[in-house]
Amino acid sequence: MNEKDYMIRAVAADEQIRAFAVTSRNLVEEARKAHNTSQVATAALGRTLSGALMMTSLLKNPDDLITLQYDCDGPIGGITVTANNRGEVKGYVKNGNVVLPPKANGHLDVGQAVGKGTLTVIRDLDLKNTYNGQVAIYNGEIAEDLTHYYAESEQVPTTIGLGVLTDHTDGHVKEAGGFLVQLMPFAADKVISRIEENMKHVQDVTVMLSEGMTPEDMLKKVLDGLDVTVTETIPVRFHCNCSRERVENALMLVGTDELDDMIREGKDVTLNCRFCGKAYTFDVEDLKKIRERAVKSRG
Ligand SMILES: [Zn+2]
Repeated sequence: MNEKDYMIRAVAADEQIRAFAVTSRNLVEEARKAHNTSQVATAALGRTLSGALMMTSLLKNPDDLITLQYDCDGPIGGITVTANNRGEVKGYVKNGNVVLPPKANGHLDVGQAVGKGTLTVIRDLDLKNTYNGQVAIYNGEIAEDLTHYYAESEQVPTTIGLGVLTDHTDGHVKEAGGFLVQLMPFAADKVISRIEENMKHVQDVTVMLSEGMTPEDMLKKVLDGLDVTVTETIPVRFHCNCSRERVENALMLVGTDELDDMIREGKDVTLNCRFCGKAYTFDVEDLKKIRERAVKSRG
């Protein structure tokens, strides 16, 4: 078990390969607690959180953001995860209490929970430019979906492994993490075939992590014989940047009619941040002030 969450960036085979690996047990557990997710929902969310962290390699500046958005017809209803280039990630699933029977191999049936639909990858760069890429969900198992996204939208051959292991009694996260390996356009055939050969012997991410393997160990296994050099180690965490002010702004947008209704009701209104579950409560006086601001902002 890795005590702290962190991600590594690495190169291999004379930079013909770029690689990433992450251990994310604590941050996935934090997400589980924030949203009180079932085992299969924790797995879906945890895999997406871990994948998004490694996909921040598509970003340049610290404030750039990458968002993975699943619009899907499975019982989970949707997944939204946002990561920045500082190792911070947040996210939620639409229906966190979905329960499904396990697959024949005993694994949580994330593919069934997700179902069919689209995966959109949104990149917010330089605080002004947004780039969207969209693919059909491949099988809903997250790792294969992201692999498919890289092939279709970025034309980069990629191998991704993701895993979340939850406790059968209380659902807490025992292990979480993954790896992402990419071939540069000039990668030699023998490098490609070596990875393919290695992958035949690579176990599930949760098995590797349960055996005490670190992100470094996972990459050494996937890239065995290909001279891995770790170039960076980045602490990662579940972090939401929500604030009372942001929630107030969201309330302003619901419109004065709705605000009038709330004021007439005379009760406190509590809103939860979708990303982290944090509760923000507004009393009638707060609502009146927000209504005033809404009127003013309309001019
Ligand atoms: Zn939040």
